[in-house]
Amino acid sequence: MRRALTLRLLALAAVLVPVSQTQAMPEANARAEASLSLLVLRAYDQPTAVLKTLRAEPVSGASQAGLLYAEAAALTEAGRLDEALAVAGKLGDLPGAQARAEAVRALVADRRGEFPAAVAAAKRAWTLLASRCEAATTEAAAQSVPPRDCDVTAAWAVLRLQQREREAEGALAEAVALAQLSFSLASSAQDVTRAVLSAGTLAMLSQQLEQAAQARRWLAEGLALAEGEPLLMACIKIYEAAVAGVRGDGTSQRRNYEEALRIAQEAGAVRTAASVQTNLTDLHMHAGRPKEALDMARQALPVVLDFKDLRLERTLRHNTAVALIMVGQFDAARRELARSQALGETQVEPVRRAMELREVGEAWATAGQPRDAIAVFHQERALTAQTHALNRAAQLQALRIKFDSEREQRNLELLTRETHLKDQQLLNHDLARKAAVALGLLLTLSIVLAGVMLKRVRAANRQLKANQRLLRAQSERDPLTDLANRRFFQAVMAEQAPEKLEGALMMIDIDHFKHVNDRYGHGAGDAVICEVGRRVKHAVRAEDLVVRWGGEEFLVFAPHVSSDQLQLLAERVLNSVGGSPVRTETGELRVTVSIGFAGFPLPSGQLHLHWEQAVECADTALYLAKSQGRNRAVGIEAVEAPDLQTLKQLHGDLDAACNAGQVRLKHIEGPT
Ligand code: GH3
Ligand code: MG
Ligand code: MG
Repeated sequence: MRRALTLRLLALAAVLVPVSQTQAMPEANARAEASLSLLVLRAYDQPTAVLKTLRAEPVSGASQAGLLYAEAAALTEAGRLDEALAVAGKLGDLPGAQARAEAVRALVADRRGEFPAAVAAAKRAWTLLASRCEAATTEAAAQSVPPRDCDVTAAWAVLRLQQREREAEGALAEAVALAQLSFSLASSAQDVTRAVLSAGTLAMLSQQLEQAAQARRWLAEGLALAEGEPLLMACIKIYEAAVAGVRGDGTSQRRNYEEALRIAQEAGAVRTAASVQTNLTDLHMHAGRPKEALDMARQALPVVLDFKDLRLERTLRHNTAVALIMVGQFDAARRELARSQALGETQVEPVRRAMELREVGEAWATAGQPRDAIAVFHQERALTAQTHALNRAAQLQALRIKFDSEREQRNLELLTRETHLKDQQLLNHDLARKAAVALGLLLTLSIVLAGVMLKRVRAANRQLKANQRLLRAQSERDPLTDLANRRFFQAVMAEQAPEKLEGALMMIDIDHFKHVNDRYGHGAGDAVICEVGRRVKHAVRAEDLVVRWGGEEFLVFAPHVSSDQLQLLAERVLNSVGGSPVRTETGELRVTVSIGFAGFPLPSGQLHLHWEQAVECADTALYLAKSQGRNRAVGIEAVEAPDLQTLKQLHGDLDAACNAGQVRLKHIEGPT
């Protein structure tokens, strides 16, 4: 079916022809929208030229809404966001163009890096479009005609934003459904440009779902549609490269990016070329070719700066920094890192930021710069903690809402009963007036009723208190593992060790946990976290506090424990987790952990630490356990530091401190 549509899709030759005097027919309007679509794509590279074209030689058959949308899109690409919003205002005044106006606001928010606002605007627009556009696709697909009454241009833009949101949340199946709808709309409207972009997206999503054959089919479809238009060819080559990347085929990825780069450069699409170069920088960096990476970054940076494209600039600077670390230019790397950070942390999702930090940390570690590596390691962990806290806050909020609504419900019930009682009493008085004899009886009845009510009110109050207790307990428990959470640990520390910690800490982190999620899904990941939590709890003593510290991290606080006992505890945790496979719905998995541990005050100088510094110590030991191959525990046995200042210095260069005998570590291997 799609093949038939492909054949019917427009040739792109007659893109720009002067406006005819005759009234625009619906068909001509559809054709004009399709031509404007390519102009919008061109605006990514040449916004000013496109704006000029739009004003000088309007597209034949184009409606005012069509021209205004293209103008707004080009203004957005040019970074002239206020002017774009002004055009959105004009669109909003046109009959039937409200969704388009909202779509422009979504594009502007996205360009500003305010993705949630962009998605919100997209959803608003979609509520105006959904009924007509969804019906239109089924009709149009059946008859191979442009969908009637559906504003394909606006629908395509807002569906794409929603699809990106779904994708970022890992809801790939929903993302596919949205992309498919965009493709159907674009195809039936004979909008080749948008059909190519949707086909490329569908190829990417299919590959992410490990449907390689499907991905190939979508790429072939996109390639056939893009034939003859260099810019679209470059786009589909970029998708092909990205698909190869997901497949893990670095050679094909590089070949396709280089092909895309060549086409884009020949077509004068400078910004597209720069974005391909940015991807190539990433590719070279990961493949251990830092010189090539630096070369690409040097070519791309001026264009990216020229377009004030902050997103590309951040990525470029990050990659440049990692490549500089790899070639040993440490100072230059630090400068580049500072610049990339200055570009606004908040614009990057935390997960991506954590990945970047990990890359930088690993580069520093490989380059033999432990001080920088440890600093980045702590940054990454702080970030993970922060996202975890956000999730927890959301859970707590949900719990509160549920609790509030239950309370509200109870209040209402009480009120109803009270009203009922009052009515009853009124009735009683009325009757009393009529029959004095009945008075005594009725009064007794109302007293009995009041007694019952009082009892119920008391019961309701008891329930209310119990709920409050439950709420407090739940806010201190991790809902997934039912272990104590970080908040609880902090409360314990504030109470028991406000100044200095006494006892031991073990920081435990599951090894290569991302593979579990990637390979077996989040459900299996959750099951593994639960089981590891259970095994840790089982391995330690009854008086030890086990805390779910973050995603797949646990912290054990063991009070009153000798150094020998502590080593034994660490060994027991290693064996209990790694000794036998974990059973999940998808089969049995071998799971191991790495552990960093230390007793406080720190032996042998008996240095007292605040609990936060103590956690940092255990964290650093964990870092060593990870970097020495995982599935092992590293303990701090002795530190020759008279004060905190010296301890900090030793922390910074642990290797040297160990070699100099200022720090002694204990190594315990996990089960084989
Ligand atoms: P390493 O051996 O270096 O620790 O590698 P790793 O793969 O375990 O790396 P990292 O600690 O960074 O990975 C943690 C991952 O845990 C990232 C996040 O997606 C996942 N995660 C965090 N919280 C949860 C959760 O509640 N459930 C699931 N399924 N995954 C989670
Ligand atoms: Mg972790
Ligand atoms: Mg881990």
